[in-house]
Amino acid sequence: MEENKIQNINKALNLALRRGIIIPAFSIYGELAGFYDYGPIGTRIKQKIIEQWRKFFINDIGNLEIETTIIAPEKVFEASGHLKTFTDPIINCIKCKASYRADKLLEEYFENKKNQEKRQKIKQLNFNEMQQLINENKMKCQKCGQDLSLSKIESFNLMLGTNIGPLNGVKGYLRPETAQGIFLDFKTIFRTYGLKLPIGIGQIGKAFRNEISPRNILIRMREFSQMELEYFFDPEENELKINNNSVDDAFLDQKINLLSIADQTDNKSIEYNEITIKEALDTKIIPNKLFAFIIYKEMEFMLHLGFKQDVFRFRQMLSNELPHYSKANIDLEVKLDDNFEEIAGNSYRTDFDLRNHEKYSNIDMNIVNNNKKLVPHVVEISFGLDRLFWANLVNSLYNDKREWDILLLNKNTAPYDFAVFPLQKDEKLMENANQVISLLLQKNYSVYFSMSNSIGKRYAKADEIGINSSITIDFQTLQDKTVTVRDIKDSTQIRKNISDL
Ligand code: AMP
Repeated sequence: MEENKIQNINKALNLALRRGIIIPAFSIYGELAGFYDYGPIGTRIKQKIIEQWRKFFINDIGNLEIETTIIAPEKVFEASGHLKTFTDPIINCIKCKASYRADKLLEEYFENKKNQEKRQKIKQLNFNEMQQLINENKMKCQKCGQDLSLSKIESFNLMLGTNIGPLNGVKGYLRPETAQGIFLDFKTIFRTYGLKLPIGIGQIGKAFRNEISPRNILIRMREFSQMELEYFFDPEENELKINNNSVDDAFLDQKINLLSIADQTDNKSIEYNEITIKEALDTKIIPNKLFAFIIYKEMEFMLHLGFKQDVFRFRQMLSNELPHYSKANIDLEVKLDDNFEEIAGNSYRTDFDLRNHEKYSNIDMNIVNNNKKLVPHVVEISFGLDRLFWANLVNSLYNDKREWDILLLNKNTAPYDFAVFPLQKDEKLMENANQVISLLLQKNYSVYFSMSNSIGKRYAKADEIGINSSITIDFQTLQDKTVTVRDIKDSTQIRKNISDL
């Protein structure tokens, strides 16, 4: 079906809203940008992605998962640097007060002008250079048409604040990433669980950012979920051990699609080069072997979810794009329509976070590993769950022979394994359908059931929400205990004995 792939964000959105896969939050009270709810099907798909992440990044490689608080007192973010440096460039219209994120406004401007080369260069600019471009191009406010050169780009902190306790209480913030809770608890966990480095500690949960201009549905939200893994290691240890076993170097031969800093600063506009992880490590694009390993795991994970290798790439971040805590970043990006969007940030956070918490709390962050005292370094994999969910949906949209849009999710992310449909409202058919459902549930399959509408409409709905196989109970079932099993890919139907399902 590859030739029928659609890759169209608007069509994906249409389908997702039509089927209630996602729902704009509090919409009965009018829209507030950047907030989405997940409907029943969306929730199931999201849970499947979480399950796979947990398998790949926690259980398969002997890592641990924790759950820390969403709100933290100001001190935590003073230490982490977020209070001072977690900012984006904002430009406010002097007439109507509309606010824009300056870099994204410029990217959109050059995208509309079909100037991809200039669009890509925006990432390299500082505030002054962005201001200059806005002025030179006489850019206008999108809402009221006011000249934006009269406005000045400023920096805007993305943290959402609150007060903890009565009578104004203590100042606190909703976490902008799940990572900080992991750093705060690391030493206790390392000691109480008797761990050895390297060890990954992960967390899945909500994060909040007061984004200036939320956009692209689940790509830039104000409340979103992350799946983060902080991998603690000794930077002086050369041998890479996972699950207490030395890792075979064969993984380094894996080819990845990589866009290096050089590729971005040379004036060629290429999407990526195919190189081995080893080449990227040898040329120091990938900063260390543990980082190389997580790139490999990430690649495997994406293929497992059903992404084809040519729709995602690893992009080395430019030095002026690096977050304040990072020595090197390689983002995982997926192609959506014509642009690559960041889905996960992979970052070499060094000992930045642990050292800063040590400084601000006066608590020694050294641990003892193999009789050596050290503050470990950290490599982080930070997946945006909503972005991954959205990229998966957009990438699974196909047009079938009837010209209908369907979701070809693979079995690792499909919301249900089977749909079960009695052909008509009939007691005997219902009885048989119940038997089939019990049998499938016993075998640990998940089942979607529907009796409303014609069978054709039910098939169409199952196709739209990504159920791969639909089982129909008809009158022949009553005679010979067979059912039809219909495949989403080509709508073919075969008859099978119930006992062979
Ligand atoms: P960062 O800490 O900015 O590297 O973010 C880590 C990951 O979180 C990104 O790769 C995104 O997938 C996700 N993310 C960051 N900001 C948002 C947002 N505003 N809405 C949805 N996902 C986000």
